Amino acid sequence: MLLLKCPKCGNSMKYSSTDGILYKKRKACVYCGHSFKVSSHITSSSSKNLPNSKP
Ligand SMILES: [Zn+2]
Repeated sequence: MLLLKCPKCGNSMKYSSTDGILYKKRKACVYCGHSFKVSSHITSSSSKNLPNSKP
């Protein structure tokens, strides 16, 4: 499960990846309908590979 932040309206939403391949995927914001690249707007993740996360 990932947490995405919409670049247009700034709202956060959950995104569940079914196959773990995110780099090409797009998601439509559930609040404003704006479509954005999933991989560019992840704010948190259950994965431990995020370079910008701090403890
Ligand atoms: Zn939005």
